Amino acid sequence: MIFERILILRVIITSLIGITSYVGDRLLQEKNEVIRALSDNFTHATVGGLTWSLILILSKKSILQNISSVVLCFFIASFVDVDHFLAAGSWKLHDAAHSAKRGYLHCSTIPITMWLILFLYSKIFNQQNVANYGWIILSSFLSHHIRDANRRGMWFCPIGSTPPIPYYFYLSLSMIFPYIVHFCMSLLTTHSIEIKESLVNIV
Ligand SMILES: [Zn+2]
Repeated sequence: MIFERILILRVIITSLIGITSYVGDRLLQEKNEVIRALSDNFTHATVGGLTWSLILILSKKSILQNISSVVLCFFIASFVDVDHFLAAGSWKLHDAAHSAKRGYLHCSTIPITMWLILFLYSKIFNQQNVANYGWIILSSFLSHHIRDANRRGMWFCPIGSTPPIPYYFYLSLSMIFPYIVHFCMSLLTTHSIEIKESLVNIV
């Protein structure tokens, strides 16, 4: 019964990621610049929050008990767009929306590096909480970057950018992204437990 409930929740949240992204993309055709920017940013934030909610469910953790991490993911995914203003060098919405430059918060190398530093720190100092923040940063930033990649590609500075990714590939990637993160999380956690156990056995 519990297994069935978890399965239904997985299907609902995975679908919600796809539906939210699709509806958010339709709203990009809105003529009013303010509504377009607000709905686009709200879509990024919601997809970020849903991404972390699904990762929690896949990790067999309660969303309610971890709601602060969902809210954090929501706000980080929204915060990334501050970059458009910084890159444009202006706080005017029109300048930010029409800037050709991409700011560094849109470079995927940055969250990957931050995740790596936090992950290594957590392993060296045995602080699981720190690793958790690393996964939250990685998930919120990359969920945002995947959505933007449909228009501008993924950017891995200083290496370069991929071409814009096709629409339905981006939608599918957004929906399977939480499963990829969860797979990496369980792989790295199991691996480090195995290393610890083998070290204990050796000692
Ligand atoms: Zn963006």
